[in-house]
Amino acid sequence: MSRNEELFERAQKTIPGGVNSPVRAFRSVGGTPRFFQKASGPYVWDADGTRYIDYIGSWGPAVLGHAHPEVIEAVQKAAVNGLSFGAPTEAEIVMAETLCDMLPSMEQVRLVSSGTEATMSAIRLARGFTNRATIVKFEGCYHGHADSLLVKAGSGLLTFGNPTSAGVPEDFAKHTRVLDYNNVEQVTELFKADGDNIACVIVEPVAGNMNLVKPSFEFLNALRELCTRHGAVLIFDEVMTGFRVGPRGVQGVYGITPDLTTLGKIIGGGMPVGAFGGRKDIMACIAPLGPVYQAGTLSGNPVAVAAGLTTLRLLKQPDFYERLTLQTGKLVAALNEESSAAGEVFCADHIGGMFGVYFSATPPAGFADVNTSDMARFNRFFHAMLNAGVYLAPSAFEAGFVSITHTDEVIEQTRQAARRAFASL
Ligand code: PMP
Repeated sequence: MSRNEELFERAQKTIPGGVNSPVRAFRSVGGTPRFFQKASGPYVWDADGTRYIDYIGSWGPAVLGHAHPEVIEAVQKAAVNGLSFGAPTEAEIVMAETLCDMLPSMEQVRLVSSGTEATMSAIRLARGFTNRATIVKFEGCYHGHADSLLVKAGSGLLTFGNPTSAGVPEDFAKHTRVLDYNNVEQVTELFKADGDNIACVIVEPVAGNMNLVKPSFEFLNALRELCTRHGAVLIFDEVMTGFRVGPRGVQGVYGITPDLTTLGKIIGGGMPVGAFGGRKDIMACIAPLGPVYQAGTLSGNPVAVAAGLTTLRLLKQPDFYERLTLQTGKLVAALNEESSAAGEVFCADHIGGMFGVYFSATPPAGFADVNTSDMARFNRFFHAMLNAGVYLAPSAFEAGFVSITHTDEVIEQTRQAARRAFASL
């Protein structure tokens, strides 16, 4: 029995399913999850000492590569001064100033400890600000696991085939309207019929929780116009895409300004940090200024903020996003070339440092398209790549992530692995 197998067996005795977050369990692809012991740059090492090229990057945060020396040093320095105060610090102000400076739509921001908290709080704020109950989301978009957002959400829920979680009362879910991603007509119709009751539209402006799905400009622009016209709050959930697709997130790439933005992942540099922020008049509704309650014992945690701030500073190096985009483009090109050489029905696509691999002829435009791809083939490809030392997301419903440490050499090794993997299908 391998050490990974031993640990998985042991984990299942005291942890439900052996994991602390469902997708880690390899349920849809089958087999034994790898238990990691360390990571550095583009690599992770499992409990058996096997090294993998990592294309998950802790599901997004590791854009600098794992364990960047400057980030580790900042964390160590901060830790020596105390792990948590439950009181304000100067570093939090610098973090807020940095985020507001990097994302022009953000006039004020509040820090939390996860993406889930960020989206949950942004929704409550939008409802409090508008005094309306209905929220609009899109099928296949995942916004964390708060009750009203777990309706036809993506990621783990899709992997396990549940449209909606048990434990969410219908009375909660009935305020959530779920529409098709990239469908301008549908959202226009809904606003025509019910616009005065809509508190907010929340969207992954590039979706990464039903594999990678890009929006059309018209779709995002329609959301902006409809929300403005009907007094609803437009929330861009950039927990995954923020500082991942470009220096100003999807809003910078498409030139569309949301009212509120939620962040997570990269802004914590691998530590638990989330944030929500945007228009000052909306943010003024949050306690202690306004009537919308929101709080957190560890919010703005000094060690986590030190990791996040150092990460954000390093992202400002000249050409960072040009290089990240270039390397991700090379990976995608390598996968496309190897798959066509093998005669596979396959394509790969990317935006900035985020990519999707699809066992279908063209990239998907929405959830229905994602479902037409060949899942069984993806699962075999996943295992062939894993055996060849490449760690991809263990689900056909997840996007992949490249870091700045994925050099040409690393991508060439990935190409060789992909050649063997495609040939073995
Ligand atoms: N929103 C999006 C777009 C996400 O991708 C995620 C996590 N994958 C979340 C929210 C929830 O973040 P967390 O897992 O930190 O709670």
